[in-house]
Amino acid sequence: MLKSLNNFSVRLRRTRCKPEELLLLFSSCLQRSKCDCNLADSLANCRRCGQCVVKDLLDLADEYGCHAFIATGGRLAAQRARDPKIKAIVAVACSKELSEGIRATFPKPVLAQELCTPNGPCKDTRVNVEEVRKAVEFFLR
Ligand code: SF4
Repeated sequence: MLKSLNNFSVRLRRTRCKPEELLLLFSSCLQRSKCDCNLADSLANCRRCGQCVVKDLLDLADEYGCHAFIATGGRLAAQRARDPKIKAIVAVACSKELSEGIRATFPKPVLAQELCTPNGPCKDTRVNVEEVRKAVEFFLR
């Protein structure tokens, strides 16, 4: 509910930003659970094998030239999002994390995209990358 209201009001505000001011923030449970890449250290450790959506999100960030950050904890994610150089955020997470993140980063505009949990909570989650792309394009249009 908060996510829908938030996205509606963010769209009304029609915020625009440059690619280097946009942060694509996503939850660590999108990483394939059997993958041994240490993404918490650096997203550059992803081999982009395509076995999980992390590859698509990193490709998307590269394509548009925005920042990408994997949220291994709410506090770290909020810290990254509060960076004064970041003007807008596209966040991919579960409903609870999105609500907390929207509150933690207010008044920065956050377009929130909820992930799907076909394997139960917090494991091998998925997201519709085209919806994420539309959110990125909204801020960069
Ligand atoms: S795309 Fe491949 S290498 Fe990258 S996080 Fe997913 S499973 Fe690991």
